[in-house]
Formats: sequence, structure tokens, C-alpha cells
Amino acid sequence: MTRNFKRIETKLIHSGEPEPRIQGAVSMPIFQSAMFEYAGETSYHDLQYIRLNNTPNHLALHEKLAALESAEAALVTASGMAAISATLLTVLASGDHLLAQDCLYGGTHDFLTKDFPSFGLSYDFINGNDPESWKRKLRPNTKAIYVEPMTNPLLEVADHRAIVKFAKTHGLVSIIDNTFASPVNFRPLEWGFDLSVHSCTKYLNGHSDIVAGAVSGSANRIEPIKHKLDRLGGSLDPHACFLLHRGMKTLAVRVKVQNESALRIAEFLEKHPRIAKVNYPGLQSHLQHQRARDLFDGFGGMLSFELKEGVEAAEAFLRNTVLPIIAPSLGGVETLLTRPATTSHSGLSPEDRQRLGITDSLIRLSVGIEATEEIIEDFERALQLIPKNAS
Ligand SMILES: *Cc1c(COP(=O)(O)O)cnc(C)c1O
Repeated sequence: MTRNFKRIETKLIHSGEPEPRIQGAVSMPIFQSAMFEYAGETSYHDLQYIRLNNTPNHLALHEKLAALESAEAALVTASGMAAISATLLTVLASGDHLLAQDCLYGGTHDFLTKDFPSFGLSYDFINGNDPESWKRKLRPNTKAIYVEPMTNPLLEVADHRAIVKFAKTHGLVSIIDNTFASPVNFRPLEWGFDLSVHSCTKYLNGHSDIVAGAVSGSANRIEPIKHKLDRLGGSLDPHACFLLHRGMKTLAVRVKVQNESALRIAEFLEKHPRIAKVNYPGLQSHLQHQRARDLFDGFGGMLSFELKEGVEAAEAFLRNTVLPIIAPSLGGVETLLTRPATTSHSGLSPEDRQRLGITDSLIRLSVGIEATEEIIEDFERALQLIPKNAS
């Protein structure tokens, strides 16, 4: 009997688990086998082979991921970028055009700007908050629209209802990189998006110890992406499948703690006399706060902020903190701090960063699951230690 679990907390634990349990094992065992004995399969795609992403570890994850995203089907991949590149290369063919949000994850931005031309693909960037302007960028060969739930590192929330409507009106495939929100806070397919991609390296795994990705959508859309991935070779190793599977079970508890903690930290920073600006969709002061309330079940664990005193002060703050780790990436159990101008967004020209509003002194925070008051105490002390006229 296929059991239908209603809530994400329950789906995380029980959806996709083998029935009956393998040898009674409560935890999904690792099938570290490259090939499986021929069992009369008639199609190439049904042969069980590790690169075809169809070992028992893959299949369990596909079912669990689909359940979380309210999708018919899902596919795990070797990385978030493997999911993104395989998805775009399936949806688009040579000669096609993509509309993409203007502030994307760096790797995706580079895939568009550096690799699209050699595939005969073109793109235009759109401002996610200005629906009036999208139509002007539309071309007869536009096939898809690509966005993120909240931008990195400014946490702007695009008009996703309008994106879906625009895509439906103009026959575009709508794709969203749901990494920052995680399915606990946002399930884009329930809002009409066609495909949702993830870097499972971040919240889904949550323990900063693997690289993995995923894409979910209707079975009709996932099947050709799977076949493309089979040929491109971006399949996930069974041992990484096991770690992702294990990590995902605690996604809901982790994300709920991160949502709460991030809001308290954002409120603390916003009130602090040395902080100029805090970007967090959960704050009343956030420009798209009402929209974020409408779309999301939680505001997430990512925020960014600026000190009044500029780059030197920002650097001093990073040095003065004790608890967070200064490192790129996000979504794990440990609190991480970075200065995007020198890490995630160092690939952009200073002019592009300025245009997007990513100043050199902007600090990005990925909130972990440590005690919130200890993070706040550490930040309070680190702010106090900054020399008064650092600039
Ligand atoms: C990290 C990240 C990616 C890329 O994922 P990898 O697993 O590193 O390939 C894509 N999109 C977003 C929003 C990310 O944060």
C-alpha cells in the first residue's frame, strides 16, 4: 500500500522508505553496487546501473524528494550545478532564449554568461520585481523563465505569482532554484512553477559534508531531464545518497530553528546603533515582507547586513567574532559568515556589484542551529570591539 503522508515533517521521515523494510532495517542501507543482476528489463533505461541513478538508494531519494516538493517525480544529481545544467540543457535547445532573474547564484550566472553561447543558447536578465518590464525582453524563441525564491545575498523576493502567470500566458517553462528556501519554507510547484531545482549541498543535507543536487516536477518533465543526465553523467554516488537521505530526515527541525534564530538575530542587528541596514524577508522593514508572508511558510536562515562604518569595520567584525566560521556556502548546522564581495560575488565586476547593491562592506550570514542568544552575544561583543572610527 502506498501511504500518503500529509505533512512535510512526516514525509521527511517516512516517504520513499522501502516497503517492506530491507531485512527489517529501520535506516535505508547503502547499496554500494555499480550494477545489478539482469532481471529481464526490456529498455536500456530500466537496467539497474549506478550512472542511471536507479539503484535502491536513488529510488528512495527520488520518492522522498518528490513528496517534499509536492511533485510527481524527482531526480537526484551529483551537485546543484548538475541539476541546473541538466535541467536547462533539457528544456532549451540550440536557438532558444531564456529569461533569467538578474541576481542569480554565481555558478548559474556563469553557466549562462560563459557556456550558453557555445550551446547556441541566449538569455536576457530580468528584474524580478518589475513585471511590467518582462514583456519587452520576450522573444519569439523564448522558452523558459528562471528565478530564485530570494536573491543572494540581498534576500529580495521576486513577484513569484506574477512570474508563474507570465510563464503560463506566454507558454514558458518556469524554473526556480529553491535552495535558499528549502521545501520546508516554500514549495514552488504548489504555486504553479513547472520545475524546482536544489543544491542539496545546502539545507537538504544540512551537514556541510556532501555535494548533491535535485530537480522535481511532473513525470513528463523529469523523464527527459533524467535521460539527459544519464548521458551527461552527473549521477549521485550511493554513499552520498545515503548521507543526503540521513541529513534530510532532520530538515524540518533544522529549518524551523534556523527560521526563528535568523529572525531574532535580524531584529537584534536592526536595532544596533552600528548597523546601517539588515536584509531579511522576515523583518517588517523588508521591502517585500508582505509578499514573503504570502508565499513562504518561514523566512529562512539567510540574512545580510551592512555596518555603518564600511569595509574596515566589516573586516574587523568578521575577525572579532568567535562562534561563526568564516566560510562560503550555507545551509548547514554551523553558523557561517562571509563578505560576498570577496567570495560568492567576487566574479562580478565592481560596477555590476554596485548596480546590484552588493557593497564591499556587506556581510552575509547563514544561521546554524547553535543557541541564538550565544550568537547574539558574540555579535554584540564583536561589534563593540570595532574601533570607533574604523571606516
Ligand atoms: C550552492 C548553490 C548552487 C550550486 O550547488 P552545488 O551543489 O554547489 O553545485 C546553486 N544554487 C544555489 C542557490 C546555491 O546556493
